[in-house]
Amino acid sequence: MKGICVLGSTGSIGVSTLDVVGRHPNRYRVVVLTANNNLDRLYEQCLRFEPSYAVMIDEIQAIELRGRLRAAGQWRTQVLSGAKALEEVAVLPEVDAVMAAIVGAAGLLPTLAAARAGKTVLLANKEALVMSGPLFMAEVMKSGADLLPIDSEHNALFQCMPSDYHAGRRAPEVRRILLTASGGPFLRTSVEKLEQVTPDQAIAHPNWVMGRKISVDSATMMNKGLEVIEACLLFAMAPESVQVVVHPQSVIHSLVDYVDGTVLAQMGNPDMRIPIAHALAWPGRFDSGAEPLDLFGVRQLDFEPPDTIRFPCLRLAYEAVRAGGSAPAILNAANEVAVESFLEGRISFSAIPETISHCMDALPAGVADTLEAVLEADRSARAVARAFIAHQETS
Ligand code: NAD
Ligand code: MG
Repeated sequence: MKGICVLGSTGSIGVSTLDVVGRHPNRYRVVVLTANNNLDRLYEQCLRFEPSYAVMIDEIQAIELRGRLRAAGQWRTQVLSGAKALEEVAVLPEVDAVMAAIVGAAGLLPTLAAARAGKTVLLANKEALVMSGPLFMAEVMKSGADLLPIDSEHNALFQCMPSDYHAGRRAPEVRRILLTASGGPFLRTSVEKLEQVTPDQAIAHPNWVMGRKISVDSATMMNKGLEVIEACLLFAMAPESVQVVVHPQSVIHSLVDYVDGTVLAQMGNPDMRIPIAHALAWPGRFDSGAEPLDLFGVRQLDFEPPDTIRFPCLRLAYEAVRAGGSAPAILNAANEVAVESFLEGRISFSAIPETISHCMDALPAGVADTLEAVLEADRSARAVARAFIAHQETS
């Protein structure tokens, strides 16, 4: 029986993780659940899974959660509060595996703590890896932690790698990585129309149900940009060996091209419980709850190159990974600020890449080999992005 800590248990990935874990009570015990502010959902999850610890970021909400649990006769869960508590629960001795499913930079410190402590890290939080790249991978190598990708494309790639493969190593027999992209809700939308799209249109993804931030990232294709950087780090590949392939059906989740010309693909329904179950059962397999793939229903698989004129975020991400150092952290922070402003109705959809591009020009890439340098790059990029957006609003 393994103990699991689910960071971000109330989100889309967190809920899918608990769905899979709930199917295998003899394999996993839930030790920790954490949430930002979804008190009702965390309360329900604590009643069902009776974790040893629950963390709510806000102290007042943590007090309310504790009160409600005790009133319901649930005394098993110790309720903690604050961001610092996330780092403590991720390294508890009774935790074997950590599902890193917090969205954005907020997930960096607890995910890094888990890697340093040698926990099995199930990585959904791509922003944490993009920000701290080489530093994060060095910690994984040093502690010997198993790092299992949850992002569907990277999980697919991991499954197509040689059988003894461990993340972070370069497999010499691999020539190229083909990263598939659905193209998002605006695959066929013209440049002029893209200017006017609303947050509701942007978060309506054709194939996947996900959190709001990653849904907007899928619409701008920054999600694929972040995933290119993620792939370079996880599989030790050069950016020119990672090719993005638009595949609107989202049935092939990515492909590995070997030196002998063999191309291995991983397929399945677009259901995040598949990569989650793969990582939870690794190196074995168990039921995920996903429907079997019906190829007669799918009928056809299409492929096309991405359009970096309509989706400049993808080009910006390639620029950031080539520049290296703090550039990916700057790209990520600027994107987080821009997406939040777009969701608040403060900027247009096309102002998202404009904001990121401005930040990358204003802040040249520096070295980012320490946590302090990464956090500093994140802070300055946020400040520059906020100032740029405020200036746009007043002009
Ligand atoms: P979500 O918005 O649905 O959930 C985010 C979770 O993080 C919630 O539990 C929330 O309470 C918590 N959280 C948010 N801000 C926090 C903060 N400041 N401090 C502590 N906790 C905080 O997001 P999601 O769609 O589940 O995505 C989670 C991560 O997984 C993201 O990095 C995303 O890119 C990645 N991912 C998601 C999917 C998907 O299908 N949803 C697929 C691939 C990768
Ligand atoms: Mg993905």
